[in-house]
Amino acid sequence: MKKRIYYWVAEEFVNRPIISEVVLKTRIMINILMAKIKPHESFLMLELNGDKNQLNDAMNILMKYGEVEDVPKMIQKDNNKCIDCGACVVHCPVKAIKTDEDYSIVFDEKECIGCKNCVKVCPTKAIEILDI
Ligand code: SF4
Ligand code: SF4
Repeated sequence: MKKRIYYWVAEEFVNRPIISEVVLKTRIMINILMAKIKPHESFLMLELNGDKNQLNDAMNILMKYGEVEDVPKMIQKDNNKCIDCGACVVHCPVKAIKTDEDYSIVFDEKECIGCKNCVKVCPTKAIEILDI
């Protein structure tokens, strides 16, 4: 199972190796998609990969040190602007963008790692990435 979350870390725990603790205790895989670390607080976007028990255990540890919120959607395509040119498809490093049966371009949000390559190459500015 894959779960994406926003994670806010309170000031007193900013210097604590929370991610390492979660990985060591639960053996879950964590991908840090975005991070803004400040002296008094941190904001991260994390992708957790594991089974249901691992996810529950990881969430419990994370919530001891900060607040968690689900990331509902990372990438958004404006279909009114997209011309299905396919430029984004070839620049996606994780094959999260595909050509559908009707040759329209579709995004797989579960696979997207938020690298923004597609945003940069899109000629019509049809793609938006959620930021923190
Ligand atoms: S942001 Fe990066 S990973 Fe996500 S769809 Fe665009 S190119 Fe692919
Ligand atoms: S690069 Fe932009 S216009 Fe071209 S297929 Fe991708 S989203 Fe659509």
